[in-house]
Amino acid sequence: MKIGIINEKTDHRVAIVPDLAKRLINEGNEVIAEKGCGESALYSDEDYQEAGAKLVDRSETLKSAEIICTIFPMEKEEYNLLPADAIVISSYQPYFSIGKTEEVATYKFTTFSLDMIPRITLAQAMDVLSSMASIAGYKAVILAANHLPKYFPMMTTAAGSIPPAKVLVMGAGVAGLQAVATAKRLGSVVQAFDTRAAAKEEVESLGAKFVEVEGATDDKAAGGYAVEQTEEYKKRQSEKIVEVAVKADVIITTAQLRGKPAPTLITKEVVEQMKLGSVIVDLASSTGGNCELTEDQKTVVKHGVTIIGNSELSADVPNHASQLFSKNIHNFLKTFLKEGKLEIDMENEILKSSCIASEGEIRYGK
Ligand code: NAD
Repeated sequence: MKIGIINEKTDHRVAIVPDLAKRLINEGNEVIAEKGCGESALYSDEDYQEAGAKLVDRSETLKSAEIICTIFPMEKEEYNLLPADAIVISSYQPYFSIGKTEEVATYKFTTFSLDMIPRITLAQAMDVLSSMASIAGYKAVILAANHLPKYFPMMTTAAGSIPPAKVLVMGAGVAGLQAVATAKRLGSVVQAFDTRAAAKEEVESLGAKFVEVEGATDDKAAGGYAVEQTEEYKKRQSEKIVEVAVKADVIITTAQLRGKPAPTLITKEVVEQMKLGSVIVDLASSTGGNCELTEDQKTVVKHGVTIIGNSELSADVPNHASQLFSKNIHNFLKTFLKEGKLEIDMENEILKSSCIASEGEIRYGK
């Protein structure tokens, strides 16, 4: 099969790094790469050439690509260039917004959305959400440390002692746990909470304190995702948040609800009571944000608090993010690409769940 790689117009990452290009070629495929596709992730055209990829311009890449993998969905006009029966792989987030899925479904392509891969053990090695979330959790703490006008670790100097920064992590999933670990490594005092009971042990195993709010709904049937909480729980949670948040120097929020807007955890009133100079990094900003004052893709200062809204922080670590993304893509491709030939079994749970459109119809939810 001919596999295409293009330059992501709005992102520093690239979906397939030269190492994967080489593997795919060894497995019996051809790889066609847009010139400069890996440049912003520090993978040069020479690296792709050495891997055996053919370098051409963007439209040539799209015209030849029987399989095209991208980080974000392409612009609608570019679909016209792809072969009519192409396999399109990207993250469409159909649960959150159906628009991009409707666009691609007007073509006959078989389209897979990586964010729809089920969270089962078998699919862990293909889980781009987890690998990117882990990088984002790390980067969120680095970014917060950069904006905080204080030290993170405790310092004992001849000029006096400095207490450690207090970090609160809201949502202790993949991103949250990485944020906890990174904030601990930088020497701060870390607290975290989550509605999932399983998170308590994970938070504590990293040496942080778990903030307990009794009475959360923890639905195991939701496949590893959190569920909407009762009004009574939300009230109790917000009281606890005020208590902890007002003492924090840094808050990292990562709470997400699949297919729904992110839950509001930090209201405007909480921000007003926070210490001057404190920092909030809201990783849920693209789905509405966990802080009421977050502006997606912006850094704003409100009531003396710096609020950073960014759900794509993994793009700021493009070299390693692309490397991990590529590994995930490779494991996904292996489910239907055998020795350079397509063997798509739509009864396969992973393919069935992630195929969002084919033959001009939306398949998601069917
Ligand atoms: P996510 O990005 O959907 O959400 C982030 C965190 O926010 C979750 O831990 C969630 O419980 C929490 N949250 C949601 N609403 C909240 C609220 N109101 N208050 C506080 N916290 C709230 O989740 P994620 O990080 O991608 O994954 C969650 C869990 O799923 C992981 O910790 C893991 O156990 C499991 N998982 C399994 C697989 C797999 O088996 N393939 C892959 C990834 C994750």
